[in-house]
Amino acid sequence: MIDNKTIGKIEKIVGKLNATAEKEDLICYSYDAFNLRYLPDLVVFPESAQEVSELLRLANEQGFPVVPRGAGSGLTGGSVPIRGGVVVSFERMNRILEIDEEDMKAVVEPGVVTADFHREVEKVGLFYPPDPASEEFSTLGGNVAECAGGLRAVKYGVTRDYVLGLELVLPTGEIVTAGVETVKGVVGYDLTRLIVGSEGTLGIVTKIILKLLPKPEARATLRAFFARGEDAIQTAARIIRERFLPATLEFMDGESLRCVEDYLKIGLPAEAEAMLLIEDDGDPVLLKKNIRRMEEICRERGTQVELAGNEKEAEDMWRPRKAISPALGRIRPRRFNEDVTVLRSRMEELIRVVSGICKRYQVINVNFGHAGDGNIHVNILYDPEDKEELGRAEEAIEEVLKAVVEMKGTISGEHGIGVAKAPYLHFELGDQGIAVMKKIKQAFDPNGIMNPGKIFASGNGTE
Ligand SMILES: Cc1cc2nc3c(=O)[nH]c(=O)nc-3n(C[C@H](O)[C@H](O)[C@H](O)COP(=O)(O)OP(=O)(O)OC[C@H]3O[C@@H](n4cnc5c(N)ncnc54)[C@H](O)[C@@H]3O)c2cc1C
Repeated sequence: MIDNKTIGKIEKIVGKLNATAEKEDLICYSYDAFNLRYLPDLVVFPESAQEVSELLRLANEQGFPVVPRGAGSGLTGGSVPIRGGVVVSFERMNRILEIDEEDMKAVVEPGVVTADFHREVEKVGLFYPPDPASEEFSTLGGNVAECAGGLRAVKYGVTRDYVLGLELVLPTGEIVTAGVETVKGVVGYDLTRLIVGSEGTLGIVTKIILKLLPKPEARATLRAFFARGEDAIQTAARIIRERFLPATLEFMDGESLRCVEDYLKIGLPAEAEAMLLIEDDGDPVLLKKNIRRMEEICRERGTQVELAGNEKEAEDMWRPRKAISPALGRIRPRRFNEDVTVLRSRMEELIRVVSGICKRYQVINVNFGHAGDGNIHVNILYDPEDKEELGRAEEAIEEVLKAVVEMKGTISGEHGIGVAKAPYLHFELGDQGIAVMKKIKQAFDPNGIMNPGKIFASGNGTE
């Protein structure tokens, strides 16, 4: 609990109007998309790196926790203040400071909403590929801290591939810059890469320098339904084997299609056991040739294959994929939404193993995700009031994560560890891996004030 004297000092740093301890406000900043609730003592809305620096200096002296927060759309509890303290929200540091058309880069504050940034750079013929499905509300700061992936990752990579450099306030208050503004740069350790994906546990990002690409000239969308899940996965593998790398290559299983159909009533084929949604972009002539060939490949195993003739048809094809989250919420109020990732060549095996585990535990399992990346969202649905069902769901998840590591996959392709996956960190990293990471944490945050309780299952990550 932070005392009133300290709250007064914090209000002096950020300004009285940029801080709130009102219960109604604290509630709004007590959760993210992982359904975990802890009230902070105070929420602040800084307007500069200098204010963040003074706040962290005070927190480090007095030992209170500080939790950075973007839009709170994280799926692992990363921005939830599980030990109380101060939540630092970036709603008032949300400016695009520069879009540099000549050098194809931009400088932004962390609170910029991802899709707003897309729209702004596209106005001048530039392109920022990372597009998490949460883009309409997630922030670039949150994307950087989680190394967010997105639908276009198969062709364009993830957030880390676009962060050239950043400004970081250390937990001890110093403001440091990492990385470069140039296309290349190899001076010293790559702090930028270390900070990207560090989930707000090593410092607070106050400025980001992002690489931009030329905006692709044209886009094409293709959708295929299959009578068996294996047919869809084998088709995805065949597309990659033929050396195509479409912008997106999304998969939905039969269960997720039925949930969505029940919700939207849009006439998805009742007999379909899987769907692939493929989108590509680029030079119009080459794009047409490539998408036609991908269409042929889909027809070899697909039961219904359609190519969008215009923007409206493309949008309609995306509807089922975009409606999954609300559709699943109608079946059970809660779900474990995993983001396990395996080699693309082992995706069929993953689906088989997951299905076996879920049958054994008699839990409702729905799978969809980024087939082009081997990143499947394994969802296990449950009712939190039904303790017996919750217990079975937890055991099933643990087995799934162990199996993924045995398959040389990773337990998180894009959502991060946060609180949700901290108990399973050792499956993948082992004791030595965790020990090295804790030494890094200790070097940045000797007093363990920065987003404590995240990534590492016990303590504040420094002991
Ligand atoms: C419907 C839905 C769809 C989603 N789809 C995807 C997807 O396709 N791909 C994907 O990768 N994720 C996805 N997510 C997860 C989530 O949107 C991403 O992790 C996103 O990057 C979080 O951004 P945010 O601004 O909401 O951050 P928050 O949830 O507020 O915070 C996330 C983490 O970042 C830290 N943080 C925030 N700002 C800063 C900062 N300035 N400095 C340091 N640390 C900071 C927080 O402490 C926390 O640990 C989805 C979530 C939802 C609800």
